Amino acid sequence: MTTGERITVEDDTLHIPDTPIIPYIEGDGVGADIWAAARPVFDAAVETAYDGTRAIEWTEVLAGEKAKERTGELLPQKTVETLREHRVGIKGPLTTPVGAGFRSLNVALRQKLDLYANVRPTYYIDGVPSPMKNPEQMNMVTFRENTEDVYAGIEWEAGTEGAEQVRAFVEEQMGFDETIHDGPVGIGIKPITEFGTKRLVREAIDYALEHDDKQFVTLVHKGNIMKFTEGAFRDWGYEVAKEEYGDEVITEDTLWEERDGDPPADAVVVNDRIADNMLQQVQTRTDQYDVLAMPNLNGDYLSDACGAQIGGLGIAPGANFGDAACLAEPVHGSANKYAGQDKVNPSALMLSGRLMFEYMGWNEASEVILEGLAKTIQQKRVTYDFERNLEGAELLQCSEFGQAVVENMG
Ligand code: NAP
Repeated sequence: MTTGERITVEDDTLHIPDTPIIPYIEGDGVGADIWAAARPVFDAAVETAYDGTRAIEWTEVLAGEKAKERTGELLPQKTVETLREHRVGIKGPLTTPVGAGFRSLNVALRQKLDLYANVRPTYYIDGVPSPMKNPEQMNMVTFRENTEDVYAGIEWEAGTEGAEQVRAFVEEQMGFDETIHDGPVGIGIKPITEFGTKRLVREAIDYALEHDDKQFVTLVHKGNIMKFTEGAFRDWGYEVAKEEYGDEVITEDTLWEERDGDPPADAVVVNDRIADNMLQQVQTRTDQYDVLAMPNLNGDYLSDACGAQIGGLGIAPGANFGDAACLAEPVHGSANKYAGQDKVNPSALMLSGRLMFEYMGWNEASEVILEGLAKTIQQKRVTYDFERNLEGAELLQCSEFGQAVVENMG
């Protein structure tokens, strides 16, 4: 096997060598536990799928607590540069303090690398305990805008000059004089741009066009209340659908006005739903939705809600995509109370690795991971989160689950 080489890009196309160098961030909290369990699974999957002709050369990059300890910085510039240069990477969760302290490193990475689409496929694996009667109906992919919305980090703490200046601007210059209560106020700004919206919605529509089992793309917004931000997201989303795809994409209005609700087999249908309604629709009309495209905060809430239906955060994968760039990461956070206990479920990270492999065109390795993982779950050899809801299950540690997945491959 040759030594590792970088993934390169030519004309927006990735060139993947047989031994690509892939940077990884272990992550805070349970990050070290799940990485230790998942990495051997990734290596074994590549070995099994390609019989030794391909391999990954992993290179660790630092972020979070480990980076702080070793370099004095939470997100060293070298980490950002290495991830940018290598194009494809994978990360564990990073802790963000609430109310004070540093801003989210996860958000910073997505913004600095312009990974504008956070994609979270939520699909059911047979045998997983779920609170739903028909969990297999859940097969949705959420596309969450990753670089703007209230996550842009434009906010002022109560009592600061900045907060008072913004209050004065809103009250005096814009005439909203009764809108903000007197006394201390924290203020944030929610930018939603045409550019950010359209590139995200394009990704969602392209995904639906490329996948035969995905016909509906739903724009999820709160545009009835936030008219000029979430409402604009909806309007710009429809503009993309109507102006850029010809007959390949129709809207829900056209579907009912011209086709009595019967979608053409080869077209994608774009519709929209208000976010609060959508949170119930994913439970009550699960099989009617395929791809959901939405602003940042809606995407954060909705992907966790979808994940709950297929067994919870222990098995909910995700990845962030930019132009010729991918950083895979599970949906869950650093679950600090379980850190170092070799306890939590590493499936979400393993399935995030599948997304990374698929992006590289290594679909066979991705399939091998799914086979090994599904077989282990069907043998009822599972971590605590599944064991507590699965009669007759054998409780495995995080690392034991990883070993079982490897044993069950191929
Ligand atoms: P969390 O870390 O996702 O954990 C919430 C709960 O989800 C856990 O208590 C556990 O539930 C379950 N869970 C999470 N990961 C699991 C796994 N691998 N296996 C089994 N169960 C799992 O959410 P949080 O406690 O709200 O956030 C902790 C920190 O993570 C915060 O600092 C937050 O900002 C950060 N965070 C980071 C990311 C990221 O890096 N992308 C994402 C979200 C949150 P039970 O205890 O009920 O079993």
